[in-house]
Amino acid sequence: MAERSNIEWTDATWNPVRGCSKISPGCKHCYAQTFAERFRGVPGHPYEQGFDLRVVPAKLEEPLKWKTPKKIFVNSMSDLFHPQVPDDFIVDVANVMMKGNWHQYQVLTKRSERLRGLLNSKLRFATTSSHIWWGVSVEDKKHGLPRIKDLRDTPAAIKFLSIEPLLESLGEVSLLGIDWVIVGGESGWGARKLEEEWVQEVLAKCRVQNISFFFKQWGGTRKKLNGRLLNGRTYDELPVLQ
Ligand code: SF4
Repeated sequence: MAERSNIEWTDATWNPVRGCSKISPGCKHCYAQTFAERFRGVPGHPYEQGFDLRVVPAKLEEPLKWKTPKKIFVNSMSDLFHPQVPDDFIVDVANVMMKGNWHQYQVLTKRSERLRGLLNSKLRFATTSSHIWWGVSVEDKKHGLPRIKDLRDTPAAIKFLSIEPLLESLGEVSLLGIDWVIVGGESGWGARKLEEEWVQEVLAKCRVQNISFFFKQWGGTRKKLNGRLLNGRTYDELPVLQ
């Protein structure tokens, strides 16, 4: 979608799928939905159909046209593993990522059961390269912890968590096998509060287990005011690639 991105942990976004549907509490204030619905009914606009899910084959080869290496967030406006996305299309996306191997791809999903199933079958060919990072979203214990287990049960070379928006303490979460953890609070109208204690707990676990840690933001209604300092510094670590 965009050769540049304002998201702190990526360089660009690529959306061969548009639209999604809500699945868990982390989706409550979905930015993608708010953005997409603003353009529903606008003739010719990429989001003319609002947040209704559709695949966009014309976008498939977009990263291959970007010659400068980038970190690319795959489907910032959707979820690649949504049940309405056909297996064959997901395989097409993975084939482009394998071909465009001068980039690094960040694939993030809340549909972790399907991720686990496909990475262990039709997508196995795209799991061993460290330029494709496979990740799951974690917002609370009930929905997030099973997703971590699903991710761990895959052969992905690089596994990451986007713990955003963090809605409660994750307690005794195991981060075994995880390479990269992003933590952040919710931003915008009605943003739910992020407690520092919850962030410190995750950071401490990352330090003990030697996992790269990225603190994205405190969030809040006016996120720029709250910034992204933790312990008086920024945390911008990226996965250590083998
Ligand atoms: S899974 Fe992601 S894109 Fe889909 S509704 Fe939830 S937050 Fe939005």
